[in-house]
Amino acid sequence: MQFASRLTTSFEYYLKLKGVMDFETLKQLMVSDKLFQTSDRETAAHINVRQNENWFKPVELGKECDLHFTSREKALFNAEATVQKNEKNEQNTSFSQFQENFSYSDDVRGMRKPHTILVYPAKDSSEATSVEEILKNTIRPEANVKIREFRKVKNQGVAVSCDSVKDIQSIISRLDGDNSAKEKVSHRMPGKRHPSIIIYDLPNTITDQEVQEALRTYTEDGENLRTRFKLKGRKPDTSHWVMEAPHQHFLQLKRFRKIAVNWNMFQIKELFHVKRCQFCQAFGHTRQNCKYTVPNCGICADRHSTSYCRSNFQLCINCEESNRNSDTNHNIRHRAIDLSCPCYKKEIKAYKKTRDYL
Ligand SMILES: [Zn+2]
Ligand SMILES: [Zn+2]
Ligand SMILES: [Zn+2]
Repeated sequence: MQFASRLTTSFEYYLKLKGVMDFETLKQLMVSDKLFQTSDRETAAHINVRQNENWFKPVELGKECDLHFTSREKALFNAEATVQKNEKNEQNTSFSQFQENFSYSDDVRGMRKPHTILVYPAKDSSEATSVEEILKNTIRPEANVKIREFRKVKNQGVAVSCDSVKDIQSIISRLDGDNSAKEKVSHRMPGKRHPSIIIYDLPNTITDQEVQEALRTYTEDGENLRTRFKLKGRKPDTSHWVMEAPHQHFLQLKRFRKIAVNWNMFQIKELFHVKRCQFCQAFGHTRQNCKYTVPNCGICADRHSTSYCRSNFQLCINCEESNRNSDTNHNIRHRAIDLSCPCYKKEIKAYKKTRDYL
Protein backbone atom coordinates (compact mmCIF):
# COMPACT_ATOMS: atom_id res chain seq x y z
CA MET A 1 0.00 0.00 0.00
CA GLN A 2 2.73 2.42 1.04
CA PHE A 3 4.82 1.26 -1.87
CA ALA A 4 1.92 1.88 -4.23
CA SER A 5 1.47 5.45 -3.06
CA ARG A 6 5.20 6.03 -3.20
CA LEU A 7 5.23 4.75 -6.76
CA THR A 8 2.41 7.11 -7.66
CA THR A 9 4.18 10.10 -6.15
CA SER A 10 7.39 9.11 -7.76
CA PHE A 11 5.71 8.69 -11.13
CA GLU A 12 3.93 12.03 -10.84
CA TYR A 13 7.16 13.72 -9.93
CA TYR A 14 8.89 12.05 -12.81
CA LEU A 15 6.21 13.22 -15.26
CA LYS A 16 6.42 16.77 -13.92
CA LEU A 17 10.16 16.69 -14.24
CA LYS A 18 9.85 15.61 -17.86
CA GLY A 19 7.17 18.21 -18.55
CA VAL A 20 4.40 15.71 -19.41
CA MET A 21 1.00 17.44 -19.40
CA ASP A 22 -1.05 15.35 -21.81
CA PHE A 23 -1.55 11.82 -23.04
CA GLU A 24 0.31 12.34 -26.32
CA THR A 25 3.47 13.50 -24.54
CA LEU A 26 3.16 10.65 -22.07
CA LYS A 27 3.11 8.15 -24.93
CA GLN A 28 6.18 9.75 -26.45
CA LEU A 29 8.02 9.74 -23.16
CA MET A 30 7.31 6.07 -22.59
CA VAL A 31 8.51 5.13 -26.05
CA SER A 32 11.62 7.29 -25.66
CA ASP A 33 12.39 5.76 -22.28
CA LYS A 34 12.03 2.28 -23.73
CA LEU A 35 14.33 3.13 -26.60
CA PHE A 36 16.84 4.61 -24.21
CA GLN A 37 16.81 1.61 -21.89
CA THR A 38 17.41 -0.80 -24.71
CA SER A 39 20.29 1.11 -26.24
CA ASP A 40 23.76 -0.11 -25.37
CA ARG A 41 25.83 1.81 -22.89
CA GLU A 42 27.86 3.71 -25.41
CA THR A 43 24.80 4.93 -27.29
CA ALA A 44 23.12 5.75 -23.98
CA ALA A 45 26.12 7.85 -22.98
CA HIS A 46 26.05 9.60 -26.34
CA ILE A 47 22.32 10.35 -26.05
CA ASN A 48 22.83 11.64 -22.53
CA VAL A 49 25.33 14.18 -23.71
CA ARG A 50 23.16 15.17 -26.67
CA GLN A 51 19.88 15.60 -24.84
CA ASN A 52 21.39 17.34 -21.86
CA GLU A 53 18.62 18.44 -19.45
CA ASN A 54 15.80 17.73 -21.92
CA TRP A 55 14.64 14.50 -23.48
CA PHE A 56 14.30 13.52 -27.12
CA LYS A 57 10.92 12.66 -28.61
CA PRO A 58 10.95 9.13 -30.13
CA VAL A 59 11.54 10.34 -33.69
CA GLU A 60 14.36 12.67 -32.63
CA LEU A 61 15.83 9.94 -30.49
CA GLY A 62 15.66 7.51 -33.40
CA LYS A 63 17.46 9.99 -35.63
CA GLU A 64 20.15 10.52 -33.01
CA CYS A 65 20.66 6.78 -32.66
CA ASP A 66 20.79 6.29 -36.43
CA LEU A 67 23.39 9.02 -36.78
CA HIS A 68 25.35 7.52 -33.95
CA PHE A 69 25.10 3.98 -35.31
CA THR A 70 26.18 5.07 -38.76
CA SER A 71 29.12 6.92 -37.32
CA ARG A 72 30.35 3.82 -35.59
CA GLU A 73 29.09 1.41 -38.21
CA LYS A 74 27.05 -0.59 -35.82
CA ALA A 75 24.14 -2.38 -37.39
CA LEU A 76 20.74 -1.45 -36.12
CA PHE A 77 19.53 -5.01 -35.79
CA ASN A 78 21.67 -5.37 -32.69
CA ALA A 79 19.53 -2.85 -30.91
CA GLU A 80 16.36 -4.39 -32.24
CA ALA A 81 17.37 -7.77 -30.95
CA THR A 82 17.77 -6.26 -27.50
CA VAL A 83 14.34 -4.69 -27.72
CA GLN A 84 12.82 -8.08 -28.37
CA LYS A 85 14.77 -9.65 -25.55
CA ASN A 86 13.57 -7.00 -23.18
CA GLU A 87 9.99 -7.05 -24.32
CA LYS A 88 9.22 -9.79 -21.79
CA ASN A 89 10.12 -7.52 -18.91
CA GLU A 90 7.76 -4.85 -20.18
CA GLN A 91 5.33 -5.11 -17.28
CA ASN A 92 7.87 -4.28 -14.62
CA THR A 93 8.47 -0.72 -15.73
CA SER A 94 8.42 1.24 -12.52
CA PHE A 95 10.20 2.48 -9.48
CA SER A 96 13.73 1.37 -10.18
CA GLN A 97 13.50 2.51 -13.75
CA PHE A 98 12.16 5.90 -12.80
CA GLN A 99 15.00 6.24 -10.41
CA GLU A 100 17.28 5.19 -13.18
CA ASN A 101 15.72 7.86 -15.35
CA PHE A 102 16.30 10.61 -12.84
CA SER A 103 19.97 10.21 -13.30
CA TYR A 104 19.96 10.46 -17.08
CA SER A 105 22.12 13.52 -17.16
CA ASP A 106 24.67 12.19 -14.68
CA ASP A 107 28.08 11.19 -15.85
CA VAL A 108 27.52 7.68 -17.13
CA ARG A 109 31.06 6.45 -16.84
CA GLY A 110 31.10 7.06 -13.09
CA MET A 111 31.94 10.02 -10.93
CA ARG A 112 34.88 12.11 -11.89
CA LYS A 113 37.44 12.91 -9.20
CA PRO A 114 37.12 16.49 -7.96
CA HIS A 115 40.03 18.87 -7.48
CA THR A 116 40.62 20.06 -3.96
CA ILE A 117 42.33 22.91 -2.18
CA LEU A 118 42.95 23.14 1.58
CA VAL A 119 42.58 26.48 3.32
CA TYR A 120 43.88 27.05 6.88
CA PRO A 121 44.05 29.99 9.27
CA ALA A 122 47.40 31.79 8.84
CA LYS A 123 49.99 30.57 11.37
CA ASP A 124 50.68 33.82 13.20
CA SER A 125 47.18 35.16 12.88
CA SER A 126 45.13 35.81 15.99
CA GLU A 127 42.12 36.25 13.76
CA ALA A 128 38.83 35.24 15.32
CA THR A 129 36.95 35.00 12.03
CA SER A 130 36.66 31.42 10.83
CA VAL A 131 38.15 30.27 7.56
CA GLU A 132 34.63 29.71 6.26
CA GLU A 133 33.73 33.35 6.91
CA ILE A 134 36.86 34.58 5.18
CA LEU A 135 36.19 32.37 2.20
CA LYS A 136 32.61 33.55 2.09
CA ASN A 137 33.73 37.18 2.05
CA THR A 138 36.45 36.66 -0.52
CA ILE A 139 34.85 34.24 -2.95
CA ARG A 140 31.62 35.99 -3.79
CA PRO A 141 28.97 34.50 -6.07
CA GLU A 142 30.07 36.72 -8.94
CA ALA A 143 33.40 34.87 -8.92
CA ASN A 144 31.38 32.12 -10.57
CA VAL A 145 33.17 29.26 -8.88
CA LYS A 146 31.28 25.98 -8.94
CA ILE A 147 31.89 24.34 -5.59
CA ARG A 148 31.13 20.67 -5.39
CA GLU A 149 32.05 19.97 -1.80
CA PHE A 150 32.96 22.02 1.21
CA ARG A 151 34.05 20.34 4.42
CA LYS A 152 35.93 20.98 7.63
CA VAL A 153 39.30 19.34 8.07
CA LYS A 154 41.87 19.15 10.88
CA ASN A 155 43.44 22.29 12.40
CA GLN A 156 40.44 24.53 11.72
CA GLY A 157 40.97 24.09 8.01
CA VAL A 158 38.48 23.80 5.21
CA ALA A 159 38.70 21.60 2.12
CA VAL A 160 37.04 23.04 -0.97
CA SER A 161 36.45 20.72 -3.93
CA CYS A 162 35.51 21.71 -7.46
CA ASP A 163 35.06 19.76 -10.67
CA SER A 164 37.49 21.84 -12.68
CA VAL A 165 41.05 22.98 -12.05
CA LYS A 166 40.00 26.38 -13.35
CA ASP A 167 37.67 26.89 -10.40
CA ILE A 168 40.47 25.98 -7.97
CA GLN A 169 42.80 28.40 -9.72
CA SER A 170 40.20 31.12 -9.48
CA ILE A 171 39.84 30.49 -5.71
CA ILE A 172 43.61 30.76 -5.33
CA SER A 173 43.84 33.97 -7.28
CA ARG A 174 40.95 35.47 -5.28
CA LEU A 175 42.64 34.58 -1.97
CA ASP A 176 46.05 35.80 -3.11
CA GLY A 177 44.59 38.95 -4.62
CA ASP A 178 42.76 40.00 -1.48
CA ASN A 179 45.14 41.59 1.01
CA SER A 180 43.03 41.05 4.08
CA ALA A 181 42.36 37.40 3.19
CA LYS A 182 46.03 36.87 2.42
CA GLU A 183 46.95 37.81 6.00
CA LYS A 184 44.34 35.63 7.58
CA VAL A 185 44.51 32.37 5.68
CA SER A 186 47.02 30.16 3.93
CA HIS A 187 46.25 27.55 1.35
CA ARG A 188 47.88 24.49 -0.12
CA MET A 189 47.09 21.57 -2.38
CA PRO A 190 46.41 18.30 -0.55
CA GLY A 191 49.43 16.01 -0.34
CA LYS A 192 49.41 12.74 -2.18
CA ARG A 193 48.38 9.73 -0.20
CA HIS A 194 50.72 6.83 0.36
CA PRO A 195 50.49 3.55 -1.55
CA SER A 196 48.24 0.91 -0.01
CA ILE A 197 48.89 -2.58 1.21
CA ILE A 198 46.36 -5.20 2.20
CA ILE A 199 46.87 -7.89 4.85
CA TYR A 200 44.48 -10.80 4.43
CA ASP A 201 42.34 -12.64 6.98
CA LEU A 202 43.62 -11.21 10.23
CA PRO A 203 41.59 -12.61 13.15
CA ASN A 204 39.30 -9.96 14.61
CA THR A 205 40.90 -10.52 18.01
CA ILE A 206 44.19 -9.03 16.81
CA THR A 207 44.75 -5.46 17.98
CA ASP A 208 46.07 -2.51 16.03
CA GLN A 209 49.10 -2.45 18.30
CA GLU A 210 49.97 -6.07 17.53
CA VAL A 211 49.77 -5.45 13.80
CA GLN A 212 51.81 -2.25 14.04
CA GLU A 213 54.51 -4.01 16.08
CA ALA A 214 54.67 -6.86 13.60
CA LEU A 215 54.96 -4.46 10.66
CA ARG A 216 57.70 -2.50 12.40
CA THR A 217 59.94 -5.55 12.47
CA TYR A 218 59.70 -5.63 8.67
CA THR A 219 60.06 -1.93 8.02
CA GLU A 220 62.91 -1.43 10.54
CA ASP A 221 61.31 1.76 11.70
CA GLY A 222 59.35 3.03 14.68
CA GLU A 223 56.58 4.68 12.75
CA ASN A 224 52.98 3.46 12.83
CA LEU A 225 51.27 2.91 9.51
CA ARG A 226 47.88 4.34 8.89
CA THR A 227 45.00 1.86 8.87
CA ARG A 228 42.53 3.07 6.27
CA PHE A 229 39.76 0.53 6.56
CA LYS A 230 38.97 -3.15 7.08
CA LEU A 231 37.05 -5.53 4.85
CA LYS A 232 35.28 -8.71 5.78
CA GLY A 233 37.74 -11.62 5.56
CA ARG A 234 37.32 -14.87 3.66
CA LYS A 235 37.44 -16.94 6.84
CA PRO A 236 34.90 -16.42 9.64
CA ASP A 237 35.78 -13.75 12.22
CA THR A 238 38.60 -12.34 10.17
CA SER A 239 39.18 -9.06 8.34
CA HIS A 240 41.43 -7.81 5.59
CA TRP A 241 43.27 -4.70 6.71
CA VAL A 242 44.01 -1.95 4.25
CA MET A 243 46.90 0.25 5.34
CA GLU A 244 48.93 3.03 3.80
CA ALA A 245 52.70 3.06 3.95
CA PRO A 246 55.20 5.80 3.06
CA HIS A 247 57.14 4.79 -0.03
CA GLN A 248 60.27 3.32 1.55
CA HIS A 249 58.23 1.26 4.03
CA PHE A 250 55.94 0.22 1.26
CA LEU A 251 58.90 -1.11 -0.75
CA GLN A 252 60.22 -2.99 2.27
CA LEU A 253 56.85 -4.61 2.89
CA LYS A 254 56.28 -5.41 -0.77
CA ARG A 255 59.30 -7.72 -0.75
CA PHE A 256 57.44 -10.10 1.55
CA ARG A 257 54.51 -12.18 0.48
CA LYS A 258 53.64 -13.11 4.04
CA ILE A 259 54.25 -11.50 7.38
CA ALA A 260 54.11 -12.93 10.90
CA VAL A 261 51.73 -11.50 13.44
CA ASN A 262 51.56 -13.30 16.80
CA TRP A 263 53.35 -16.33 15.36
CA ASN A 264 50.89 -16.74 12.51
CA MET A 265 51.65 -15.97 8.89
CA PHE A 266 49.37 -13.68 6.90
CA GLN A 267 49.38 -12.89 3.22
CA ILE A 268 50.29 -9.30 2.35
CA LYS A 269 49.91 -7.59 -1.03
CA GLU A 270 50.02 -4.26 -2.75
CA LEU A 271 46.49 -2.91 -3.22
CA PHE A 272 45.37 -0.79 -6.15
CA HIS A 273 42.27 1.28 -5.52
CA VAL A 274 40.82 0.78 -8.97
CA LYS A 275 37.08 0.29 -9.19
CA ARG A 276 35.57 -1.88 -11.89
CA CYS A 277 31.84 -2.48 -12.04
CA GLN A 278 30.88 -6.15 -12.00
CA PHE A 279 27.65 -5.30 -13.80
CA CYS A 280 28.65 -3.13 -16.78
CA GLN A 281 32.43 -3.76 -16.51
CA ALA A 282 33.28 -0.05 -16.72
CA PHE A 283 35.98 1.41 -14.51
CA GLY A 284 35.35 4.19 -12.02
CA HIS A 285 32.32 2.91 -10.15
CA THR A 286 31.09 -0.21 -8.41
CA ARG A 287 28.06 -2.34 -8.93
CA GLN A 288 26.09 -0.47 -6.26
CA ASN A 289 26.46 2.78 -8.19
CA CYS A 290 25.91 1.38 -11.66
CA LYS A 291 23.42 3.26 -13.81
CA TYR A 292 22.75 0.46 -16.28
CA THR A 293 19.76 -1.83 -16.34
CA VAL A 294 21.25 -4.42 -18.68
CA PRO A 295 24.55 -6.09 -17.78
CA ASN A 296 27.65 -6.52 -19.93
CA CYS A 297 29.35 -9.88 -19.67
CA GLY A 298 32.88 -9.77 -18.24
CA ILE A 299 33.90 -12.70 -20.44
CA CYS A 300 32.33 -12.23 -23.87
CA ALA A 301 30.95 -8.64 -23.63
CA ASP A 302 27.45 -9.79 -24.58
CA ARG A 303 24.45 -8.46 -22.70
CA HIS A 304 24.11 -11.06 -19.98
CA SER A 305 25.63 -11.29 -16.55
CA THR A 306 29.07 -12.86 -16.35
CA SER A 307 27.91 -15.86 -14.31
CA TYR A 308 25.50 -16.93 -17.10
CA CYS A 309 28.14 -16.88 -19.80
CA ARG A 310 28.10 -19.87 -22.13
CA SER A 311 30.35 -18.31 -24.71
CA ASN A 312 33.51 -20.02 -25.87
CA PHE A 313 35.29 -16.85 -26.86
CA GLN A 314 36.56 -13.87 -24.88
CA LEU A 315 35.99 -10.24 -25.69
CA CYS A 316 36.85 -7.27 -23.50
CA ILE A 317 34.15 -4.59 -23.70
CA ASN A 318 36.44 -1.90 -22.29
CA CYS A 319 39.16 -2.46 -24.87
CA GLU A 320 36.63 -2.76 -27.67
CA GLU A 321 35.05 0.52 -26.61
CA SER A 322 38.41 2.20 -26.31
CA ASN A 323 39.40 1.06 -29.81
CA ARG A 324 36.16 2.39 -31.17
CA ASN A 325 36.13 5.72 -29.35
CA SER A 326 39.71 6.56 -28.56
CA ASP A 327 41.53 5.22 -31.60
CA THR A 328 43.52 2.74 -29.56
CA ASN A 329 44.59 -0.54 -31.05
CA HIS A 330 44.22 -2.90 -28.10
CA ASN A 331 43.95 -6.61 -28.45
CA ILE A 332 40.35 -7.30 -27.41
CA ARG A 333 40.45 -11.09 -27.07
CA HIS A 334 40.56 -11.31 -23.28
CA ARG A 335 38.15 -11.02 -20.39
CA ALA A 336 37.35 -7.63 -18.92
CA ILE A 337 38.72 -8.82 -15.57
CA ASP A 338 42.06 -9.88 -17.07
CA LEU A 339 44.99 -8.32 -15.19
CA SER A 340 46.83 -7.82 -18.46
CA CYS A 341 43.95 -5.85 -20.01
CA PRO A 342 45.40 -2.63 -21.48
CA CYS A 343 42.47 -0.61 -20.10
CA TYR A 344 43.07 -2.01 -16.63
CA LYS A 345 46.75 -1.20 -16.93
CA LYS A 346 45.86 2.34 -17.89
CA GLU A 347 43.67 2.64 -14.78
CA ILE A 348 46.52 1.36 -12.60
CA LYS A 349 48.87 3.88 -14.15
CA ALA A 350 46.44 6.73 -13.49
CA TYR A 351 45.86 5.48 -9.95
CA LYS A 352 49.59 5.35 -9.25
CA LYS A 353 49.90 8.98 -10.17
CA THR A 354 47.55 9.86 -7.31
CA ARG A 355 49.84 8.23 -4.73
CA ASP A 356 53.41 9.05 -3.81
CA TYR A 357 54.98 6.06 -5.46
CA LEU A 358 58.33 7.83 -5.84
ZN1 LIG B 1 28.50 -0.29 -13.97
ZN1 LIG C 1 29.30 -13.92 -21.82
ZN1 LIG D 1 40.69 -5.19 -22.04
